[in-house]
Amino acid sequence: MLINLSEIPPEGRTFHFTEKTAELNSALEDLVRNCPYSIDFQIQPVGNIFEVTGKIHSDVKMECTRCLKEFALKIDERIHELLIPGKELPRTGRETKVNHTSELEGTGPSSTLVSFPNFDAGVLMRDTVALAQPDHPVCSASCMGLCQYCGKNLNEGFCGCAALRNKDQRPSPFSKLKEMKFN
Ligand SMILES: [Zn+2]
Ligand SMILES: [Zn+2]
Repeated sequence: MLINLSEIPPEGRTFHFTEKTAELNSALEDLVRNCPYSIDFQIQPVGNIFEVTGKIHSDVKMECTRCLKEFALKIDERIHELLIPGKELPRTGRETKVNHTSELEGTGPSSTLVSFPNFDAGVLMRDTVALAQPDHPVCSASCMGLCQYCGKNLNEGFCGCAALRNKDQRPSPFSKLKEMKFN
């Protein structure tokens, strides 16, 4: 979704997008998968560059890496980006950060080169949502995952496998003695 930066007035302009206004649906659909989202940001000209500040709220459907159940992850991300008019570098993949530099501490704004006057808000919002997603999402910190023996979801109750296997496999304190040879 392209925003024409040359049309932003000196006092700035605010934008509000949701799944209902739909402008960003195609940029976000494979990340938010039909979940509601709400994106508010302001674009403010500052000298030759543009400052984007705002926030993204969304529930993103993810699969728990422990129990494999789908759950909604709450995304609550601040947007603080400086748009620097310049020549855009080619992207090699949709989430590659060639045009995007982030400060290591995550405190200050990051910056994006844009081919003025076009600013693709969809790409920035997509990157922000993608970066907010953990590499190993879990439905809850206390998720017990699946039984490694029978595959039962242990959040729904115990299956008894672990107790059985432990009984079989726990080395007896006397097993070492058995291996020793007393001559
Ligand atoms: Zn889980
Ligand atoms: Zn089991």
